Amino acid sequence: MGCEDVRTSLMLGLALDDGAARHVTMCTSCRAEAPAVRAVAAALAAHRAPAPSQALRARVLDAAAPLLDRRARAVITPDWGAVARALGAALLPLPLIALAQGYVVNLLYRVLTTLLPGPVGAYLVFNYVALVALLATITYAAIPVVAARQAEARHA
Ligand SMILES: [Zn+2]
Repeated sequence: MGCEDVRTSLMLGLALDDGAARHVTMCTSCRAEAPAVRAVAAALAAHRAPAPSQALRARVLDAAAPLLDRRARAVITPDWGAVARALGAALLPLPLIALAQGYVVNLLYRVLTTLLPGPVGAYLVFNYVALVALLATITYAAIPVVAARQAEARHA
């Protein structure tokens, strides 16, 4: 255990283990510093942070009021029309995307099962389908969030 470790333990008010206690008795620097470090630790532990004055509290709340008001209005009244329009626009091409993915998966399965052993090809196709499903889920789940943020940015 080094000097830094011992002094950190003293500063944190931790009980010194045998190695640390032996270090304090052997090291002249730590032995000289230990009472001062303990005194600083005790002073810091005894100090209580003063409560903010009412004037400071009022000034901070006044300064933050416009921003808090704007944020509260944006959270309370999301633009449901914009969210519905964004979801509608995003769902419109979904049948075409699903159809195209169906063709891709079918082709991929046929190519992979002729090139690779059957279970390996099926496994790779399954992983592709799972990845596409995950990406589509993430994309569609993000649409309401993005639409709400855009509406919020327009109102700000
Ligand atoms: Zn030391």
